[in-house]
Amino acid sequence: MSHWQPYELHTHTFHSDGKQSLLDLAEAAKSLGFAGFALTDHNTMTGLSERNQVEDHIGIDIIQGLEWTTFFGHMVTLGIRDYVDWRQLSPFHISRGIEGVHRQGGVVGIAHPFRVGSPMCTGCFWEFEISDWDEVDYIEVWSGLFPSIQKNNSRAFALWTDLLNRGIRISATSGRDWHVKDPVKEPVCATYLHMDQDEGAEFGVINALRNGSIAVSMGPLPHLVIRNLEGQSNVGIGGTVSRKANASNQYEIVIGVDFAARDGHWELMNTSVTMRLNSNKGDIAVCELSKIDQEKVLSLDLDGVSWMRVEMFGTFHQVYTMIGFTNPIYFND
Ligand SMILES: [Zn+2]
Ligand SMILES: [Zn+2]
Repeated sequence: MSHWQPYELHTHTFHSDGKQSLLDLAEAAKSLGFAGFALTDHNTMTGLSERNQVEDHIGIDIIQGLEWTTFFGHMVTLGIRDYVDWRQLSPFHISRGIEGVHRQGGVVGIAHPFRVGSPMCTGCFWEFEISDWDEVDYIEVWSGLFPSIQKNNSRAFALWTDLLNRGIRISATSGRDWHVKDPVKEPVCATYLHMDQDEGAEFGVINALRNGSIAVSMGPLPHLVIRNLEGQSNVGIGGTVSRKANASNQYEIVIGVDFAARDGHWELMNTSVTMRLNSNKGDIAVCELSKIDQEKVLSLDLDGVSWMRVEMFGTFHQVYTMIGFTNPIYFND
């Protein structure tokens, strides 16, 4: 079993405005190749009452969640046991709600920050003041189906990049905001989480989101590792390289693609993908990978790099687009 497991982190059922039951959702997620999903109904957790039965019946992990739905924005909270009341919170006191989630061992993510708001979707546009971005665990930078081609997602992705450049270590995910069970033709995106096999699913999901050991893809799975560091073991996605672990600024970087990830659930127009190693200094390397050449080892001078990630491009559903990306590896001075 791979350590990287595909999850869908944003879904709804009849218990809020979804048009599907938890069982419908579980069956569909299973048939799309997901290892699990988070149920994030609007302001309610009642849909989770059948969780154990559905998990056992379908053989899929269901993560407890809730989407705080307010006039000023939507926030997904995962891994909570008890409902955290949101209604008392003014736009300037979002920290209090976040604190409540963290106290329960959960994580919070900003949902679809740039989706058109009122009157189309009241509160969908994020308007809360975040005074301390370190409180927010992740941003859902890709929302909906075929997320990479949607303008509002480009804005969310740019916000993420901007925060990283400001030195804030925040994770990025995808979320379908899945409401209806009908089959779809557009590409479905997965958030891949690096799971420790010994820990329970929910614990593993929350840990991966907190640590940033995350990759997002509609197709094959991008990888990034820095290895052969002096006095430090290999550093993967979400990890931090201590500069002291290398005498020089020269680093050995492995960029890879796993074409077996959710195999059969997506199709590539070309056999190759373009991998861009992107950072606070812009693109620092570009390479092509394919099924017969799934990995490249590069030796690069990373002077001045504080974070880097892989962005994977290719032709997908007739469009040349970003197909997926990794979360960053960070550097400490
Ligand atoms: Zn929402
Ligand atoms: Zn939603």
